[in-house]
Amino acid sequence: MKLVLIGAPAAGKGTQAARLVKHYGIAHISTGDMLREEVAKGTELGKEAKSIMASGGLVSDELMIAIVKERIQKDDCKNGFILDGFPRTVVQAEKLDEMVKVDKVVYINAPDDVMLERLTARQTCPKCGATYNKLFLPSKVEGICDHCATELTQRKDDTVEAGRNRIKTFHEQSEPLVGFYTEKGILIEVDGTMPIDEITNAIVKGLDA
Ligand code: AMP
Repeated sequence: MKLVLIGAPAAGKGTQAARLVKHYGIAHISTGDMLREEVAKGTELGKEAKSIMASGGLVSDELMIAIVKERIQKDDCKNGFILDGFPRTVVQAEKLDEMVKVDKVVYINAPDDVMLERLTARQTCPKCGATYNKLFLPSKVEGICDHCATELTQRKDDTVEAGRNRIKTFHEQSEPLVGFYTEKGILIEVDGTMPIDEITNAIVKGLDA
C-alpha cells in the first residue's frame, strides 16, 4: 500500500501516520523529520534547510524529490509506505507520479484557526520522538515525556509567526494537490477536527472500502 498524507501544519498528519504504519505494517516517511535530522547533524542539506524551515517556507522541489526518490527505494518500503509531508507542491506530485504509483491520498482538513491553536500547543520529546499537545493530548506530568521522562521541547517553527506562514504556504503551494488527486480519483478527505480515534477510523474505512 502506497499512501500520501496531505494537510496543513498541525492537521494531524504525523499522529495519523504513526497509527497507519502500525495498522498496515508499512514504512513511515516524514520529510519534515528527515530534514530536522539533517539540521541536527549539521549536514550541508541541513544548513540549507534550517532557515527556510524556521521561517515556514518550503525547501526546493529538486532537493525534496531527490531525498524521497532515494528513501522509497530502501528495503523497509517493500510492503509499502506512507508519505507524510511529501508532496507539498504540484511539481513534487508530478515527479512522484513518475517514480511510483500512489494508491490513495488522505487529505486531513481543518480550519486555519484550529490548526494555529494546535500548532502552538504542540510538544515533542527530543529523545524518543513522542508528540503531545497541551490542548488535547497532554503528557501526564506537564512538560515531561510519559515514555522516557525527558523534558519536552517545542519545534522552532511552531510559533504563531512561523505557523501563520506555514498555513499560508499550505494554501498557496500545497492545497492545489487536493484538486490534482481528486481528478485522479484517489483522494479521501477526512475532517481533522474530529477526535484522533475517529479520524483514524474514518481513514481506515476509506482505505479499506
Ligand atoms: P513538517 O514536519 O512536515 O511540518 O515539515 C517541516 C518543514 O520542513 C516544512 O515547513 C518545510 O520547510 C520543510 N519540508 C518538509 N517537507 C517538505 C516538502 N515536501 N517540500 C518542501 N519543504 C518541506
